[in-house]
Amino acid sequence: MPSAGQEPSDNIVIIGVIKETVPGEKRVALVPDAVKTLVADDLEVVVQAGAGEAAGFPDATYTEKGATLESDTAALLGRADVVLGVQPPGPEVLGALRSGTIWIGFLKPLDETALAKSLAEKGVTSFSMELMPRITRAQSMDALSSQSTISGYRAVLLASFHLPKIFPMLVTAAGTLSPARVLVIGAGVAGLQAIGTARRLGAVVESYDTRPAVKEQVESLGARFVELDLDTGDAEDSGGYAKAQTEEFYQQQREQLGKRVSASDVVITTALVPGQQAPLLITEEAVRAMKPGSVVVDLAAEKGGNCALTQADQDVVVDGVTILGHTNLPAEIPFHASQMYAKNLVTFLKHLVDEGKIELDLEDEITKGALLTHEGQITNDAVKARAEGAN
Ligand code: NAD
Repeated sequence: MPSAGQEPSDNIVIIGVIKETVPGEKRVALVPDAVKTLVADDLEVVVQAGAGEAAGFPDATYTEKGATLESDTAALLGRADVVLGVQPPGPEVLGALRSGTIWIGFLKPLDETALAKSLAEKGVTSFSMELMPRITRAQSMDALSSQSTISGYRAVLLASFHLPKIFPMLVTAAGTLSPARVLVIGAGVAGLQAIGTARRLGAVVESYDTRPAVKEQVESLGARFVELDLDTGDAEDSGGYAKAQTEEFYQQQREQLGKRVSASDVVITTALVPGQQAPLLITEEAVRAMKPGSVVVDLAAEKGGNCALTQADQDVVVDGVTILGHTNLPAEIPFHASQMYAKNLVTFLKHLVDEGKIELDLEDEITKGALLTHEGQITNDAVKARAEGAN
């Protein structure tokens, strides 16, 4: 409940920025420049003290841009009309949320259905950034894409750091060094960024994706598209995402990809199917056939991994091959990841606000698409079906 003297304002909409508490989460939902934009739009911004510290934004950088600071979580939640977060709220924050508050952040809607239920029961109107429609009009609000861009970049740097070789070809007086060979499996947003980054470092890159449509994008980045003898005619859904394939398909894919994997110095896997465990694409046998010193970076680690040997948030070494299972790569580059995420949130907020007031147009494709809970209900059909199925 709001504390005395801190009733939510009837006039000015107050945007609260929560300090993240999940271990290793260094991002913050709003950066100081984003505060300035919101304040210029007649919104008030309250930032939890220390919220931006780990991302490189000390408290003073927020107050300079017009935010006020609040140390206490319950007091912040008592004041804010809209709360912005990166990770889903933990029990303490959830317990202090008021009915009628709007929460905007990543909410892992298809995985954490119990959270969606709690938000609905508490009367919180929540928007999940994962549910943002992937349409042209919402591109600047697409936080999955912005954070995947950071992940793809970081994956290549991690690999280069662990690899006992350099990436580019070098012709020197001390001899000629051959370039690193990089295989990127899954050429979505993260995969394409990984391809571009590895190419810029001088690696020879090849990539495979079940969506044939990406072949041209892969080639335009200077990488080779790996052709497999698989029927991918029905690989893409209407939203541009990969569809789940049969176990027989994955079996064949694993067999055919095995040779490409063992010939690579670095394999970066990003293959995901929305709402499902990640497909298993690299067998233990294929990893053991890689040269010692090779590196696998598995961006699907949080969803079980694309590689049989991946362990979430652990570095595994098998026969001299390192398999990295970092589950939160954007948090490893928190300054720019936060800057991009904040831009996504501010654009979305501007979409929801009209003349300083929150106006929810539930007929609007973007507002309706991102909405997870409202007026006591889970509003997203897929999440609702999952939540009911979990009963
Ligand atoms: P994602 O993270 O869900 O998946 C990553 C990649 O893995 C995808 O390219 C997918 O096809 C691939 N994949 C799945 N199973 C695979 C398998 N067995 N083998 C190899 N690859 C496999 O996807 P994402 O990166 O978030 O986005 C995917 C697509 O969504 C984009 O490429 C695009 O078409 C669309 N999109 C559209 C917009 C927009 O229009 N605003 C924005 C972002 C993404």
